[in-house]
Order: sequence, then C-alpha cells, then structure tokens
Amino acid sequence: MATCPICRRAPADPKYKPFCSKRCADVDLQRWFAGSYAVPGPPDETPPDDDREG
Ligand SMILES: [Zn+2]
Repeated sequence: MATCPICRRAPADPKYKPFCSKRCADVDLQRWFAGSYAVPGPPDETPPDDDREG
C-alpha cells in the first residue's frame, strides 16, 4: 500500500490520494508552486532595445 509522500503515513482518505489528507496535498502544492515561481530572470520573450536617441 502506498504511503503519503509528505509524512509517510498511510493515506486515510482516498479522496486525497496519494496524500493522507488535504493538509499534505496542500504542502505538496505549495512546494510545486514555490519551485515554479523560483525561476531566475524573466522569460526569453524580451523586447529588443530599440529606443535609440536621435
Ligand atoms: Zn501526509
């Protein structure tokens, strides 16, 4: 039987598989978001520097 990847307990509620509870599901979600937001620098869709004087 699979265990909760967050706290290693046996899942109590199949609703939150593979996590044991909503709390652990939220923890995993927070980690996922934290990782995706921790992208250094802007995306490679930078506009060209075409603002010359004259
Ligand atoms: Zn858990």
